[in-house]
Amino acid sequence: MAFKLTRRNFLQSASLAAVALPLSDVIASETGIEASPFEPKGTVKDETVVGGVCEMCFWRCQLVGKKRGDRLVKLEGNPKSIDNGSSICARGNAGVQLLYDPDRLKYPLKNVGERGKPKWKRISWEEALDECGSKLKGIEEKYGPQGICMFPHGSSAKYPMHFFERTVGTHNVSEASFFQCRGIRDTAYVATIGMAPGEFVDMPNAKVIFLLGSHIGENIHVSHVKRYIKGLQNGAKLIVVDPRYSAAAAKSDIWVKIKPGTDTAFLLAIMNYMIANDKYNADFVEEYGDGFDEFKAGITDWTLEKAAKECEIPAEQIKEVAELLAASAPSVSIHPGRHVSWYGNDFQRQRALACLTGVLGAFFVKGGWVPAKNPKVGKMSWAKKDHGDEHNLNIDEEEELRFPFSPPGTPTELIRDTALSGKPYPIKGCVIWGQNPIQTIPGQEKMKDVLRQMDFVMCVDVMPTDITMWADILLPESSYLERYDLIKTGTQWDFADSQQQFIAPRIPLVEPMFERKDQVYITNEIAKRMGYAKDIPVNSNLEMVEKNLAEVGLSLDQIIKEGGIHVQKGENPYSMPEDFEVVFYNEDIEDAGFPGIPTYQPVEQPPKGFARLLYGRVPVHTFNRTQNNVWLNKAMPDNPVWINDEIAKTLGLQDGDVVGFINQDGIKSRTTTTIKTTPGIRKDSVYMAHGYGSANPLMSIGVNAGVDDTSLMSKITIDPETGAHGMRNNFIQLIKDDKILAIPASV
Ligand code: SF4
Repeated sequence: MAFKLTRRNFLQSASLAAVALPLSDVIASETGIEASPFEPKGTVKDETVVGGVCEMCFWRCQLVGKKRGDRLVKLEGNPKSIDNGSSICARGNAGVQLLYDPDRLKYPLKNVGERGKPKWKRISWEEALDECGSKLKGIEEKYGPQGICMFPHGSSAKYPMHFFERTVGTHNVSEASFFQCRGIRDTAYVATIGMAPGEFVDMPNAKVIFLLGSHIGENIHVSHVKRYIKGLQNGAKLIVVDPRYSAAAAKSDIWVKIKPGTDTAFLLAIMNYMIANDKYNADFVEEYGDGFDEFKAGITDWTLEKAAKECEIPAEQIKEVAELLAASAPSVSIHPGRHVSWYGNDFQRQRALACLTGVLGAFFVKGGWVPAKNPKVGKMSWAKKDHGDEHNLNIDEEEELRFPFSPPGTPTELIRDTALSGKPYPIKGCVIWGQNPIQTIPGQEKMKDVLRQMDFVMCVDVMPTDITMWADILLPESSYLERYDLIKTGTQWDFADSQQQFIAPRIPLVEPMFERKDQVYITNEIAKRMGYAKDIPVNSNLEMVEKNLAEVGLSLDQIIKEGGIHVQKGENPYSMPEDFEVVFYNEDIEDAGFPGIPTYQPVEQPPKGFARLLYGRVPVHTFNRTQNNVWLNKAMPDNPVWINDEIAKTLGLQDGDVVGFINQDGIKSRTTTTIKTTPGIRKDSVYMAHGYGSANPLMSIGVNAGVDDTSLMSKITIDPETGAHGMRNNFIQLIKDDKILAIPASV
């Protein structure tokens, strides 16, 4: 729903120093949480502190903080940074509001109500840790380590994840960044070029930037956007393939308004055309290609006309794209994408994207795909013990991998199915650290059933979210501005011939308030209570950072003197490893029972009267994590649904109309949002920003703001090679004034 100026957000936005908790207090008294007003202390004297590393998103821009007394009043990019420079995005700026959000978790809490409908009681750390340790130990003893599963996210979750995986010995760890986001990309590129691709494209030097579904500009990571803009300023042509007229499409030279799910057909037709017309990089393919003849023979069916029909775009446009790419090769940035868990046919598409880069010879060349050669630092964490593969759910009875190209960890659906069936073993303990599986993973009701059957659920987080409502014990974590933490490494991104590298440890800008603790403290205390005291690798976050720096001859003192970032000479970014090859036809994939050359697999189409639900990012939010941030909420308080203007007209809908949704399984959205009519989306699809519509009343700003797209994803599809989720295979109708509106036939 549209933004409403509540007393709380009025007071917050009126002044940084305003510390108003009336609504929080009301909620607190209803839920049993004792709210404690925070009043900044200290003298009025400005000071700049260095060493911050942002984590409002995963990109980790380097920061400085402006302090007034004890209070952080402003965040800025660290001028010493050779990555983001002095720039940070809106979310980075709004980190100040996360830090002082009165709704933040402050004390350990015990749920004395039901999971999902919690009643919170404040307890001591001692009691909370005793309960976590004894419950998890009890589960480990009764069911084995595999009886514990974990859903981690973010830099602070690495240390506890290593504890549960390496020391306790459960395989049942599932990271959203792998199984609902980029894991498919990484394993598809590993199967093609032997390494994960990151977003390492040399856009500043590109003649063409090719984006398949990547909506840079709505999806903001500062140094990445800078490189993209530099590329466009330097005259790169931009090709954007997207069913929606995204911010990137709006800057494009060619916008390919593709039918959702058909991208692989499009890519195969481009490559077939280039090969058939001798417009590919034959020298590169000859020198570095493996299995090219099989690949070439296997895609000959993909004529421009066949792809045009499948993708519902003109054959002439596919030809135009192929011609432009071929004429610009090898200085072409074929972007590998990031969030690529789309339709459940994604591994093959990502393979096709890597092969297209190979056909153009665009690896390790100016303007092409060029990996960042980052400096090494220590990786102090829990030592890896050999726990065997007996309880690895990704290995079947015949000792074959169920998902042979799975990213690290266990596919989420295997964990959920095992937890619900109890076969081949029970999963009864759940540790959730920084992740929000309720609003991340399709099958929201299934996730709730998984949580209901657990003997114990613990959550560690900075803010209340929808998943924290399901915890038995909820622990408040210090934020990225309040703790020492992992070390950000990177390279200068303009890819001058000699690259520079940087090392930036996270150094706290302020002391943690209330009773918030960091990940090393929490994990170690649980480990001690589970009988693993002797395995503890470090005693504090600070010690972890110091040891990791010491391994490369650096110290925190030195880096602080250097302004929070150590910069050193790098390596030639364009030098190619000796054994580099592009595997066009991969025999291992075929041996595993999947197509060895990239192959198009059609996806289910919307049933009559429905439109496909697409979703994406917005520049001022990081999904659900920032929904309660008063500044960011004000910038974008809800997620209007994009609907094609002709379809809207047929349905009698106008901009600003308030609608809800019902999906193909009859699941209705709990909240409503507004309509945005536009010619900039296909008629068979609707689009909304992801992560809105939180249900947790402790998020006094974010609760019920917009619609939770994940709640409408009840159909679960799985990518067969990787086990990752396909997230765009659900279909919806609109509800207005209690009437369901069938979407008219679209094509
Ligand atoms: S892109 Fe923005 S939110 Fe992400 S790390 Fe950088 S400043 Fe922070």
